[in-house]
Amino acid sequence: MDAEQVTTQEIVLPKYNLTEEQEKKLILRQYRSLLKLLRPKLKKDDEELIRRAFEIAVDAHKTMRRKSGEPYIVHPIAVSMICVEEIGLGVRSTICSLLHDTVEDTDVMLEDVEREFGIEIARIVDGLTKISNVIDTNSSQQAENFKKILLTLTDDPRVILIKLADRLHNMRTLDYMKPEKQLKIASETIWVYAPLAHRMGLYNIKTELEDLSMKYLEPQAYKEIAKKLSETKRERSRYINEFIKPIIEKLKKTGLDFDIYGRPKSIHSIWNKMKKKGVDFDEVYDLFAIRIIVYSSPEKEKEDCWKVYSLITDEYMPSPERLRDWLSNPKNNGYEALHTTVMGPQGRWVEVQIRTNRMNEIAEKGLAAHYKYKEGSNEEDRFDKWFAQIREVISSQDTDSVDFLQDFKTSFLAEEIYIYTPKGDVKMLPVNSTGLDFAFAIHSAIGSRCIGVKVNHKLVPISTKLRSGDQVEIITSSKQKPSDAWLQFVVTAKAKTKIKDSLKEEKRKIAEDGKVMMQKKLDSLGASLNQHNIDELVSYYKVPSQLDLFYNIAVKQTDLKELKEFKVIGDKLEFIKPVKTITEIKPETEIKSIPKKDSELIIFGESSDKIKYSLAKCCNPIPGDMVFGFVSTGKGLIIHRTNCPNAARLMANYGPRIVKTKWAKNKEISFLTGLKIIGTDDVGVINKITNIISGELRINIAALTIESGEGVFEGSIKVFVHDKEELDELVDRLKQLNGIHEVQRLDIEDSITT
Ligand code: MN
Repeated sequence: MDAEQVTTQEIVLPKYNLTEEQEKKLILRQYRSLLKLLRPKLKKDDEELIRRAFEIAVDAHKTMRRKSGEPYIVHPIAVSMICVEEIGLGVRSTICSLLHDTVEDTDVMLEDVEREFGIEIARIVDGLTKISNVIDTNSSQQAENFKKILLTLTDDPRVILIKLADRLHNMRTLDYMKPEKQLKIASETIWVYAPLAHRMGLYNIKTELEDLSMKYLEPQAYKEIAKKLSETKRERSRYINEFIKPIIEKLKKTGLDFDIYGRPKSIHSIWNKMKKKGVDFDEVYDLFAIRIIVYSSPEKEKEDCWKVYSLITDEYMPSPERLRDWLSNPKNNGYEALHTTVMGPQGRWVEVQIRTNRMNEIAEKGLAAHYKYKEGSNEEDRFDKWFAQIREVISSQDTDSVDFLQDFKTSFLAEEIYIYTPKGDVKMLPVNSTGLDFAFAIHSAIGSRCIGVKVNHKLVPISTKLRSGDQVEIITSSKQKPSDAWLQFVVTAKAKTKIKDSLKEEKRKIAEDGKVMMQKKLDSLGASLNQHNIDELVSYYKVPSQLDLFYNIAVKQTDLKELKEFKVIGDKLEFIKPVKTITEIKPETEIKSIPKKDSELIIFGESSDKIKYSLAKCCNPIPGDMVFGFVSTGKGLIIHRTNCPNAARLMANYGPRIVKTKWAKNKEISFLTGLKIIGTDDVGVINKITNIISGELRINIAALTIESGEGVFEGSIKVFVHDKEELDELVDRLKQLNGIHEVQRLDIEDSITT
């Protein structure tokens, strides 16, 4: 029994200066260990197929090297190993993962793959091949690729599982990439891939992806927490042993077969907790959880879990509001377990997770394990349902891709809530869903006609946010129809798509009238309703499409009287005089001077600055912070901190518009930043604070507010500093003051008002 398992894999970076002979041996050795892992799953002829895929991949990648200097083939082999070992995939997926980069990067064609391995494997490999040319650089390439993956996902979930394995290996070897690449890849990972892994039930992979992203996005916090975790490891092991000792004794008496161990929480989840609660590492009480795995027969699973629960709560007092029963109501991603938090020795709260070996396998290997246990059972499949929902949304969606990615994230990757119909059926919805989302989830016709909802028998507006466990009844009217305003509060992709579709349909109907009016007007001028004339008018009135033109005419927003500015030649309209507003110059031209290449570095902050930039209001960067530039349309370059709450979204969605930036040394300009201070009330504390700031460090104070009550005070200070070094020194000095418990940098949008 291991007292404490380690979550994050230590990455060993070997030096690659091997001879060709040694390299060949190394590749063969890795290939053999892959085969060894697969051995139990191999059927007749499988080994031959895998060897064939391996040979094709080796040959295709033979001239390529990874950034680490290793031969490229090391990567597809590693991805295959993750697929087999950590996700539980089989032979066909191994073939696909060996080939996953061939079509994209080498001379191998999709047709070759199909000829060798058949259509099933070719389709998966196609799904794994990135779209290399997105014509419109403004729409995000990442989003386009992601959309493509999702389209294939609904046909075959293995695409996404292999993609996750690919991403995991790239994250594990990210050290070799250039810093700006690291930031982009890590942001994309935290923004889409980690939530996706979570949604697919791959807890270990999700956790590792989060930790690895944090390592690059928040290097300091990551190192600090990792260090503190290892410093406190002995003490924790001692405590865990003390905690589990009486439990083991009791469990042994029951005759149950079990494993019990303590498991440290991930660095990323500890960090989240520190941020959310505004506490230091030492104040996070649940740095670990106790996990008990019972080996049960299928019919005794629930009974055994509750037996273990009862035995633990006989020993330690449980916190009544922290019991989570995912045995009776598994999570959408298939997770089943019983969680409770109990008061352990020395009055410390300890989370205990109870599950059977089957549940544990599903928790760790997610989808693949889920299918393994599903075989032969008629149980309705939550993954299939989920895929059906995604398919429905993707097939009816024509919004631009960035929107799509955002919608997808809020609808399909968010935490979920359970909502009950009056008959007791349960629907799962993403958190923040409203009554209207629920109506659309039941049926789009019900959503479209929804005029009110009763939540727990009480009538409330349709925009009311629902909470898990609510019972909701929908009230409809045949006169109701979707409106623009609905889009402001619905969160599910299904509701959004249906509302947009219906608004467009409505607009189309109205536009028909406009078309008739226009026809009449053109007739009277002797011109006809042809494409040339329509295009002329679309550009004259500066509307996005001909649909908008007809619609505007119908609702009298566009006045056809202006047509006298045209003359008619044959049946064509031509301008008489140029319209002055047409040559309006967009302010975007000034940002054209900004180089967009990754390799180029923008240094800003110099007094002789030629680049127009501004500092993001959401994170208020100061010199010394790790920053990046975002090329915005209209506002030039905006500088954000890499740990800005908006950074991950920007980097994941607008990769090509991110530029690497660095501060130039400059001691002349100072920047406004804010600190939050918490401490115990003490006479003269304000004096002491101001003394340090303006007296000793000679920093300018812009504003200072202190609020106190019941012996505790909270203050916010706005100061002008030159760089991060100066700010860090200030924080250090303030922390040393008696009575000051916490000093934090403010970086939330409204915390600083200039
Ligand atoms: Mn790859």
